[in-house]
Amino acid sequence: MNLKNFINGKWVEAESGLTREIINPANGEVIAIACESDASDACLAIKAAREAFDSGVWSNLPAIERAAFLFKIADKLEERMDELKVLETLDNGKPHREAEFDIGDAANCFRYYAGLVSKPHGYTYDVPDGAQAMTVREPIGVCGLITPWNYPLLMGVWKIAPALAAGNTIVYKPSEITPVTSVKLFEIIEEVGIPKGVANLVLGPGNTAGQEIAESHDVDKVSFTGGTVTGRKIMQAAAGNIKKISLELGGKSPNIVFADADLETAVDYALFGIFANSGQVCTAGSRLLLEESIHDHFIERLVERARMIRVGAGDNPATEMGPLVSEAHMNKVLNYIEIGKQEGATLVCGGKRITEAGLEKGYFVEPTIFVDTTPNMRIVQEEIFGPVLVVQKFKDEQEAIKLANNTVYGLGAGVFSNDGAKALRVIKKIRAGITWINTYHPTYNEAPWGGYKQSGIGRGLGTYGFEEFTEVKQININLQVEPVGWFEN
Ligand code: NAD
Repeated sequence: MNLKNFINGKWVEAESGLTREIINPANGEVIAIACESDASDACLAIKAAREAFDSGVWSNLPAIERAAFLFKIADKLEERMDELKVLETLDNGKPHREAEFDIGDAANCFRYYAGLVSKPHGYTYDVPDGAQAMTVREPIGVCGLITPWNYPLLMGVWKIAPALAAGNTIVYKPSEITPVTSVKLFEIIEEVGIPKGVANLVLGPGNTAGQEIAESHDVDKVSFTGGTVTGRKIMQAAAGNIKKISLELGGKSPNIVFADADLETAVDYALFGIFANSGQVCTAGSRLLLEESIHDHFIERLVERARMIRVGAGDNPATEMGPLVSEAHMNKVLNYIEIGKQEGATLVCGGKRITEAGLEKGYFVEPTIFVDTTPNMRIVQEEIFGPVLVVQKFKDEQEAIKLANNTVYGLGAGVFSNDGAKALRVIKKIRAGITWINTYHPTYNEAPWGGYKQSGIGRGLGTYGFEEFTEVKQININLQVEPVGWFEN
């Protein structure tokens, strides 16, 4: 597979001619060669998006016509499900069933925004002076979209669908590690006939191509999903022309279990919270907070279940947890496990790379659980982004809330309890943008997604996600057309 940029309606190599090998994380084999764009390629894409926006070829279309394109994209994603899920697994490592879920969700995200765009979006205001005021929502202009590798197709679609629905033109840069399904999506965008220059794809690294998108004065908005450190760089780069920015960043999300919870349900969701997608989820329930009285019994059951998770290649139907996305990322996760041991936490499950026959060339790490942690340990404070759970103990509601809020992040949080009032009381005290009671992880195209504190700025998905790609214009109409009379002569 040879993966190219899609700029101004054409498939092109990087100007430098440089390329990058794309690796299957299940066995280290090369699955594709992608062009390695730099700032000059990003500039070409930005220029195409600028011209397409300024021409009005997309923003002037009636909403219902833009929507028709998005509905077609959704249908084609589903038609190509079998091919796309195989490619997503090859590129990212996730099991087929997870890839299938992501692609279905991506199709529905296009449908959601196709449906939303023709609904009313403004207000009217009863103002003095015999005037009528109202607001309309307009596209922002050229939007730079930059995404990570953990949900290669879906993270892009969460931005592409609302940005296009709102009438913007886009320059999309997926993670340089996982570009395959983004290229397939742009094949579909070409196939359905979206006008040239409206949607542009640039494959390449963040510090060159991505940085140019974040800095360019011809880009009006950057919507970024990725790590908090990169998010900070994006903010700085965006300052030059006061770009609008949306940031969906990292997390260290608490999953709190009270003694009165349904324990089997809580154990099941604790596993799902941290080991789904091999822990490479921004909202992963990576800190499990257990009420003291159930701690030992809960851990016993949790470890028993964690040891039963079938780790393997994503194309094996029996696999429940795949590899980590790259060798470098696996090494980062293994290093955190070493840090945890050195800090004095007790390892009760996993902790090693899996090297058994068949998996030895892939980047597989055992489901790992640490107990006996203290709040200031690095493994408790820092995002590991892998299958590593740290457990914290609490005495009562107040201590649970205090521990839950004790990080710089504020992305997700869960509470398990059969006392509904207590569960809601606790959730309301937690400084996080996405929260769950007696469940963990469900994500809906209809509902807003984003973080408090250093987990980000703004909200994706739902109506909020649409508004993030619009400007609000106030229109005042004078209903009594006569001179104002402010000056006497
Ligand atoms: P990353 O920050 O390293 O990279 C994300 C994207 O930014 C990539 O496309 C990368 O090429 C680009 N990039 C890197 N440096 C850049 C720069 N200077 N200028 C412009 N672009 C640049 O993140 P990652 O390792 O790919 O993904 C993991 C992170 O993503 C985790 O921290 C995770 O929590 C976060 N994440 C957050 C959400 C959310 O919704 N909040 C969702 C998924 C992942």
